[in-house]
Amino acid sequence: MTRQASSRPLLFGNVVDIGVQSAMAIATVYPATGETLKSFEPHDESEVERRIALAHSAYRDYRRTSFAQRSKLVRAMADVLEKDQASIAETMTLEMGKPVVQARAEVTKCVGVLRYYAEHAEAMLADQPVVGTAAKNGSIIKYQPIGPVLAVMPWNYPLWQVIRFAAPTFMIGNVALLKHASNVPQTALNIEKAALQAGFPEGVFQSLLIGGDRVRKILEDDRVAAATVTGSEGAGQSVASIAGNVIKKTVLELGGADPFIVMPSADMQKAVEIGVRARVQNNGQSCIAAKRFIIHESIADEYMERYGQVMSKLVVGDPLDEATEVGPLATAQGRDEVNEQVADALSKGARALCGGETMEGPGWFVQPTAITGLTPDMRIYREEVFGPVASFFRAADIDEAIALANDSSFGLSSSVWTNDPAEQRRFAEDLEAGMVYVNAMTISYFDLPFGGVKRSGYGRELSPAGLREFTNIKTVFSD
Ligand code: NAP
Repeated sequence: MTRQASSRPLLFGNVVDIGVQSAMAIATVYPATGETLKSFEPHDESEVERRIALAHSAYRDYRRTSFAQRSKLVRAMADVLEKDQASIAETMTLEMGKPVVQARAEVTKCVGVLRYYAEHAEAMLADQPVVGTAAKNGSIIKYQPIGPVLAVMPWNYPLWQVIRFAAPTFMIGNVALLKHASNVPQTALNIEKAALQAGFPEGVFQSLLIGGDRVRKILEDDRVAAATVTGSEGAGQSVASIAGNVIKKTVLELGGADPFIVMPSADMQKAVEIGVRARVQNNGQSCIAAKRFIIHESIADEYMERYGQVMSKLVVGDPLDEATEVGPLATAQGRDEVNEQVADALSKGARALCGGETMEGPGWFVQPTAITGLTPDMRIYREEVFGPVASFFRAADIDEAIALANDSSFGLSSSVWTNDPAEQRRFAEDLEAGMVYVNAMTISYFDLPFGGVKRSGYGRELSPAGLREFTNIKTVFSD
C-alpha cells in the first residue's frame, strides 16, 4: 500500500479531519484533500417551479416523438459523452474520489448503454399482440409514456446511475427531473448540458440543485408522475412513503450486503483475485460490491490467507493518479462510519486478516481491510459496509452457506464460485437475491434486469423489465 497507515488501532482513535462536509451543502469537495472546490446556491422555489412547468410542457410534445427521433437524440448524447469523456471523468473523481481510470470506464459504459437502448428500445416497447382468448379480436398491449419522472440519485456512480435511468426514459418518451446527491452537482449539471448539446428539447432532462428535504413537494406535485430512487434504505423509505400517499409508482434500488460464496471446486486463484476486486471496486462504495465472503470450511484458511495477501498490496492513494487502485471514501461521514463499524467488530473479538488500522489524512482514506471471526452482535454482521472492508465467514456445507447468505435483511445480488453443476443450480434456486452470478462478480449488463428483493428495494432497471417500469401498460381490447 502506498499510503501511510497510522499505528493507532481503530479502537482508540480516528483520522485527522481537515474539512467537514455539511449534509445540506451543494458543493464539490475533493475527498482526497477535503478541500471545497466549488459551491452552488440551491435552486429556490421559483426556479424549481419553473423547471417542473418546463418538464410538464416538454413532455406534451416529447411523448409524441417517434422512436427514430428519440433514437437519434440518444445516440447524439452518447457522442457528446464520448467526446467529453476525459473531463466528465475527472469531474467525477474530484467530486467523489473514484480512481480516474474507473471514472473513464464509467463514461464509456454510459456511452454503451445509450447506444444499446437507442438501438433496441423500440423492439422492447413495440405493441404486443395478446395471445389468449382476447387475441382473436386483435387486442394488443401498448407500452406508453407516463410523464415526468423524478430521479433521486446517489453519488457513488454519479454518471452511470443517472444514465442507466435516463437512456430508457428518453426512449420511452418520458422526461426526467434529476435530484442528484448534493456532493456531485457538477456531474449533475454536466449531464443536463450533454442532453442539451445532443439536441434534446429543453425540459426533457433537467437537474434540480436541491437537498433531499425538498423532494416531498416535487413528488406531491400533480405534474410529476413517478419517482425512482437509488440510494440508502432511509432515502428509499422516505420517498416511497411520500409516493404511496399520492399513489405514484416508485422503483427502489437500495443497499446491499452481497454474499460471495466460494466452494471447494472453484478456481481458487480466480476467486481470490476477483473477490478482492469485487470488494474494492469504486473504493468499496458499490451497492453490488461483494461484502460478505462465505468460504467452505475445507478451503477457508488458504482462501483467506491469499485474499489478505492480494488485498494488502493494493495501491491506495490520489484518485487522479492512474496507478491508484483504491481512493478515499466520498465523505468524511462515510469514512467515520466505516471506521466505527470496523472498530466495533475488533473491539468485540473479530480479527483483521489485513488492514484494520486508521489512515492519516489529509483525505478520507480507509485501509483495505479483511475481517474474520464475526458474530451477530457486531454491527458488520448485519449492516452494509460502504467502504473497502471484506467480512469473512466459514460454512461447513452448501446448506450452511445458503443459510448464512440469506441471513441478511438485504437481497440485492450474490456471487457463487463452484464448478459443480448441482451446486450452481441449488444456489440459483435458493439464494434470496435479485441476481445470482456464477463464477463471476456482479456487474450490471445493459440487457439483464438489475434490482433486488427484501430491503434492497423493488422494481428493476435495464432490460425489457426495467424499460417497462415507468410505462402505462395499456390494454386495448377490441371486440
Ligand atoms: P443516500 O444518502 O440515500 O443518498 C442518495 C440520494 O437520496 C441523494 O440524492 C440524497 O440527497 C437523497 N436523499 C437522502 N435522504 C433522502 C430523503 N430522506 N428524502 C429524499 N431524498 C433523500 O445514499 P448515498 O449515501 O448517496 O448512497 C449510498 C447508498 O446507495 C448505499 O446504501 C448503496 O448501497 C446504495 N446504492 C444502491 C444502488 C442500487 O442500484 N441498488 C446503487 C448505488 C448505491 P442528498 O445528497 O442531498 O442528501
